[in-house]
Amino acid sequence: MIDEKGILFILSGPSGVGKGTVRKRLFEKATDLQYSISMTTRAMRPGETDGVDYFYKSKEEFENLIEQNELLEYAKYVDNYYGTPRKYVEETLAKGLDVFLEIEVQGAMQVKDNFPEGVFIFLFPPSLDELKNRIVNRGTETEDLVLNRLKEARKEIEMMDAYDYVVVNDQVDHAVAKVEAIIQSEHLKRERI
Ligand code: 5GP
Repeated sequence: MIDEKGILFILSGPSGVGKGTVRKRLFEKATDLQYSISMTTRAMRPGETDGVDYFYKSKEEFENLIEQNELLEYAKYVDNYYGTPRKYVEETLAKGLDVFLEIEVQGAMQVKDNFPEGVFIFLFPPSLDELKNRIVNRGTETEDLVLNRLKEARKEIEMMDAYDYVVVNDQVDHAVAKVEAIIQSEHLKRERI
């Protein structure tokens, strides 16, 4: 017998650690995982698409979603809101499908309060210097934003112990393989004869 409800996987860790890259690579292969597209008030970056990368909302729209309890979690991160649509996650899990969230640490901790049975994966940078290089090289942030993001990253790393798994992102392929192994193992754990 197999558990009928889907499993909620949460990939988190500091901004710049490469969560987005790992998630995208994972989704090129893992067709039976459902990615929950987040809402955000931050400006769209070049190359991004509304409804694919995020649902882009005004501050007012986002605050309405909070008020109407439409978000499973949300966080204010470097002056912008980010949040996960509750309905999508709950309905998809209820259909027996696995849902994958890629979110920052404050939000992941809120999810843990509501879904303690979720599988929490912390993506760890090879080093803080490497993390700084990645944030700077992305080239979409001002110097102030880079410093803010690094400050956040240091705070986020302190939360690592609350996670079920820690995966070091030294090489994307290795990190993806480890996340795949975690997903497979969590399925095996829930299988009963
Ligand atoms: P970025 O602006 O670089 O796309 O994302 C900034 C941070 O927000 C990243 O760490 C990203 O994982 C996180 N993030 C994206 N979507 C969500 C969400 O729905 N909720 C929370 N709490 N964080 C999110």
